[in-house]
Amino acid sequence: MYEFEFTRPASVAEAVAALSTEDAQALGGGQTLIPTLKQRLAMPTTLVSLSGVAEMQGIRLEGDGPLVIGGAVTHAQVASGAGAYPALAALAGQIGDPAVRNRGTIGGSLANNDPAACYPAAALGSGATIVTNIRELAADDYFQGMFTTALEEGEIVVAVKFPIPDAANYQKFVQPASRFAMVGVFVARFADGVRVAVTGASEEGVFRWAEAEAALTANFTPDAISTLTVDADGMIGDIHGTKAYRAHLVNVMTRRAVSASA
Ligand SMILES: Cc1cc2nc3c(=O)[nH]c(=O)nc-3n(C[C@H](O)[C@H](O)[C@H](O)COP(=O)(O)OP(=O)(O)OC[C@H]3O[C@@H](n4cnc5c(N)ncnc54)[C@H](O)[C@@H]3O)c2cc1C
Repeated sequence: MYEFEFTRPASVAEAVAALSTEDAQALGGGQTLIPTLKQRLAMPTTLVSLSGVAEMQGIRLEGDGPLVIGGAVTHAQVASGAGAYPALAALAGQIGDPAVRNRGTIGGSLANNDPAACYPAAALGSGATIVTNIRELAADDYFQGMFTTALEEGEIVVAVKFPIPDAANYQKFVQPASRFAMVGVFVARFADGVRVAVTGASEEGVFRWAEAEAALTANFTPDAISTLTVDADGMIGDIHGTKAYRAHLVNVMTRRAVSASA
């Protein structure tokens, strides 16, 4: 690990100011960033911890929705405090292990946008809004490919607004060594249609499965998508599973999610 300065601001304004110094970097729960620093793969001059920023804490339900979750809220806090959106709370409770859940944050996860992470599927599948220090971004515009988002340099995820669907479920096929999703599918049924978001499978990162959304909007049953397939060409192929295997899993996990939420 290289030497760095450490600062723990108390407000978003202070955090943004601290991040404007050259080579400063935000620190959420450190579950991705600290190992990166330990391996000397990054060399920030200053780490700006977001854990003391008051505006980035807490979970609150605005009327019947959205559910607003602060960017520094940990996975464990979402698991125990997002009862208004049970599918989201259940997803948070399946992330990593207790150490990861007690430190890792929703803002850090969405900023990192790991192609196998769980929250990107929830945010995209729910049609969530990502609130930053300068703007509000629809999830459809926010995710821009593996480890890539619409965030600009020094921009921080302050909160995430989740509309609450009539029914939803997340099914995760766990890669047992890492605990990440080999394939994870988040299905959410709203009055005006169904959204299906897939993580872990694609070389492009999280994506919406449009054909399944159309079929499930017409008929919200597992049978409605039994013959649908995603193209294996764009899938991730690695030592844990071939492209064809992941493509197959997308259909299986989507049907399970529909079955569990219906
Ligand atoms: C063993 C292990 C298992 C895991 N399993 C899973 C899993 O099953 N599913 C899953 O989804 N994830 C999993 N993770 C990832 C974990 O959940 C963390 O969410 C993730 O590492 C990033 O969150 P963090 O708060 O730790 O961010 P950090 O590591 O602190 O930061 C990650 C990146 O985001 C930036 N950042 C942090 N917070 C913000 C913010 N609010 N705004 C803007 N930028 C920010 C940092 O500058 C850095 O670039 C696992 C991690 C580990 C180590």
